[in-house]
Amino acid sequence: MSSAFDFEPKPRRASVAVDVGGVIVGGAAPVVVQSMTNTDTADVDATVAQVAALHKAGSELVRITVDRDESAAAVPKIRERLLQLGLDVPLVGDFHYIGHKLLADHPACAEALAKYRINPGNVGFKDKKDKQFAEIIEMAIRYDKPVRIGVNWGSLDQELLTRLMDENQAAGSPLTAQEVTRETIVQSALLSAELAEELGLARNRIILSAKVSGVQDLIAVYAMLAARSDHALHLGLTEAGMGTKGIVASSASLGILMQQGIGDTIRISLTPEPGGDRTREVQVAQELLQVMGFRQFIPVVAACPGCGRTTSTVFQELAQKIQEDIRASMPIWREKYPGVEALKVAVMGCIVNGPGESKHADIGISLPGTGEMPAAPVFIDGQKAMTLRGPKIAEEFQLLVADYIEKRFGRGQAAAE
Ligand code: SF4
Repeated sequence: MSSAFDFEPKPRRASVAVDVGGVIVGGAAPVVVQSMTNTDTADVDATVAQVAALHKAGSELVRITVDRDESAAAVPKIRERLLQLGLDVPLVGDFHYIGHKLLADHPACAEALAKYRINPGNVGFKDKKDKQFAEIIEMAIRYDKPVRIGVNWGSLDQELLTRLMDENQAAGSPLTAQEVTRETIVQSALLSAELAEELGLARNRIILSAKVSGVQDLIAVYAMLAARSDHALHLGLTEAGMGTKGIVASSASLGILMQQGIGDTIRISLTPEPGGDRTREVQVAQELLQVMGFRQFIPVVAACPGCGRTTSTVFQELAQKIQEDIRASMPIWREKYPGVEALKVAVMGCIVNGPGESKHADIGISLPGTGEMPAAPVFIDGQKAMTLRGPKIAEEFQLLVADYIEKRFGRGQAAAE
């Protein structure tokens, strides 16, 4: 039966799959999570440590800045050190202005990278632009690497913008300046992709992105790009910002696009607090994909927000502890308990929604709210299994979760089934 409202996610837009060092972006592959370091790439120790942290957190590709000779010279050492640590994570080189020269002067860097990111807005200027762009594309062909043509409106091709503005004016200005800017961003990506293909780079070696910092602009630009191209698309809201603002803006824009079937890989560009944890951007990307139902990375903990019925901190502490334990345990659980990502745990604050929500989870607990008997019913697979009492409810529930995981996802159990 058709409905006036279509709530379901649209099927993924058909795109050409690109192999990035063994990770497939586009086609029928799941949406890939990627991230970027903020270390000086020339500092091999710091960059290896951060790439390792990002990859262990779940980043399937990691981009690093390649801005000068010292950084380019460090890239093969970084790759080697990561391999020694058993981390075969594809590295993406982020090039601006002198990428053509760095790739030519540092063949080991060109070889070690799994993908080159080119910015058409600063690959070269005036008569050097096409020449330097062609030199990078020739390197990509020689080393058999894919490229991302990454337009960013902070460094938009000014010659193209001026030309489209002039044409719009000559036509009586049918488009607003904002619309012409959006069109310029899209054209910059498409024209560069066309040029790369004319130079001999295969279509399945090209990924496109068109990043802006405004949510509505981003949605509009990617919708235009998706309608006019079948290249794999890298989504990201550039300069998303710090803290909750960055998370909300990125999630709103990327969520809407992915619901429309647009996007083959995502990066959440959060500005970390000084000294903050860079892996937060990976966590947000994974959680966005998971809450939208596109991928599963980590067991979900459903917790109510708490209210006037939860006057003690036991409820918040247990919800936080369970969440932290799960995140910390995942690197081991992934190996030990195949399928554990699908687990749903509920930690609820009182009888109002506690038993109901807990029954929907695989294992859930309804803690006693203010005025309730100091007892916490535990539900396993939708059935009330027991009631916990006393001062050690939190610890006992954690043991029950561990026991449930072992029984349901342990290899012995899988073999017995
Ligand atoms: S389940 Fe209970 S404690 Fe949690 S928000 Fe609802 S009423 Fe408040």
